[in-house]
Amino acid sequence: MILPIVAYGDPVLKKKAVEIDKDYPKLEELIANMYETMYGAYGVGLAAPQIGLAIRMFLVDTEPFAEDESFSEEEAAQLKAFKKTFINPIILEEEGDEWAFNEGCLSIPDVREDVFRQPKIKIQYQDEDFNTHVEEYDGLIARVIQHEYDHIEGVLFTDKLSSFKKRLLKGKLLNISKGKIRVDYRMRFPAMSRKR
Ligand SMILES: [Zn+2]
Repeated sequence: MILPIVAYGDPVLKKKAVEIDKDYPKLEELIANMYETMYGAYGVGLAAPQIGLAIRMFLVDTEPFAEDESFSEEEAAQLKAFKKTFINPIILEEEGDEWAFNEGCLSIPDVREDVFRQPKIKIQYQDEDFNTHVEEYDGLIARVIQHEYDHIEGVLFTDKLSSFKKRLLKGKLLNISKGKIRVDYRMRFPAMSRKR
């Protein structure tokens, strides 16, 4: 089932999410619905707060990036194959010189800005069966993980922009929170759910 994606301005996107355990109700169904929702919106990542749940879980599938011809064959193959569910993740280390990448977010449609992040990460997480893994990633895969990880910390990519950029985007962001935007996937807008 496709779930509505929570738009910029909803307080759930600003919350620090909480850990879950294997008794979390209907977890398998929730994960399946989140994948369907992400694919339905042509996203490469989706965090639980974006469907209104402040829990520490996100999904990543970088396959759409594999179409981009700027990547080497090896990188493209890696991006094509990367699909993973991260539960209770902790970024243990981030390293390297920050690099810029033009990021977007399903909760902030039609806004894309360069965001600086470190290129390498070490992350601990649990999979769908609650087995713990520690893995290292770099490049675009690390970038998507960092973006989704920020979501469960209550941070959006727009929070990381300069105050000048933030000022320029203010009106656009306000319009998104009011639902004054055309978007071709299901969304839930904070200003609209408040008035009954
Ligand atoms: Zn996002």
